Amino acid sequence: MATVGFIGLGNMGGPMAANLVKGGHQVTVFDLSAAALTAAAAAGCATASSASQAAEQAEFVITMLPADAHVKGVYLGEQGLINQLPENTLVIDCSTISSATAVEVGTALQQRGIEFIDAPVSGGVGGAKAGTLTFICGGSEAAVTRAQAVLQPMGKNIFRAGELGAGQIAKICNNMLLSVLMVGTSEALQLGIAHGLDAAVLSEIMSKSSGSNWTLDVYNPCPGVMDNVPSSHDYQGGFLVDLMSKDLGLAQQAALASGAATPMGALTHNLYRSWSQLGHGREDFSSIFNFVKANKK
Ligand code: NAD
Repeated sequence: MATVGFIGLGNMGGPMAANLVKGGHQVTVFDLSAAALTAAAAAGCATASSASQAAEQAEFVITMLPADAHVKGVYLGEQGLINQLPENTLVIDCSTISSATAVEVGTALQQRGIEFIDAPVSGGVGGAKAGTLTFICGGSEAAVTRAQAVLQPMGKNIFRAGELGAGQIAKICNNMLLSVLMVGTSEALQLGIAHGLDAAVLSEIMSKSSGSNWTLDVYNPCPGVMDNVPSSHDYQGGFLVDLMSKDLGLAQQAALASGAATPMGALTHNLYRSWSQLGHGREDFSSIFNFVKANKK
């Protein structure tokens, strides 16, 4: 059993902390939201009144926060944990943030003898609840191996992509590809529908042909083709357009910094930003299907 400080109990962090408790760990949590703290207490976590208090006595500190600024604030801010954590604490940041910030925070902590890995996740809220997340880690082999004890109760697959920051790069590569597949699948389905085809029949044909891919086969964006996907539930309960848009922005930043050519990623970033600006930011990212609907002549 390990002592864990867990900070950030939103859609992802709440169920992740609950699974750590189920895994037999002693978990002390903090979130700015009182409701999130109440839910975590009901799941068996001890609650704290600050990040600093949650991290007291912890061998592992895990953060699951919205974006770069929150992670930087918690570790390097005025009351940052960098000034408090004893040497040898292992910090695991599971938020999706820029690789540059992960390297900045990780390097600063390591200079104080505090271990750090970036460990963004794939698998969404469903995976967080079921304890089947994929962790995509960046950091030393020793640190990633040490993290397994607390990652295992929350996930099914634990990968090491490379050194510090590599987890964040691998994560945005995956999400950029996912966005391209989603837009492509949506276009193909809408083209077929515009010509009178049945979306379910067309989906089956493409699924068994060379167009087969995850967004078509298990996360179909057309309402009614599959039961248990957001498209059949008003695009609720999945991965938000705004979060996809954020990840695509991170991919573009990384592309600019490295000189990588990502024309398709740039295009899907613009599509998702526009879709958000049209008021669809809180829908599942498969709702982009409606953005590419045929204009009947
Ligand atoms: P969320 O907005 O539901 O939760 C974030 C939580 O952090 C909130 O409860 C908020 O109150 C808390 N918080 C913010 N600043 C804080 C601070 N200074 N101290 C303590 N708590 C603070 O977000 P989420 O959906 O849980 O996502 C978290 C991260 O995981 C994001 O980086 C997101 O991109 C990534 N992610 C999300 C999904 C998904 O499907 N939701 C999937 C994979 C990765």
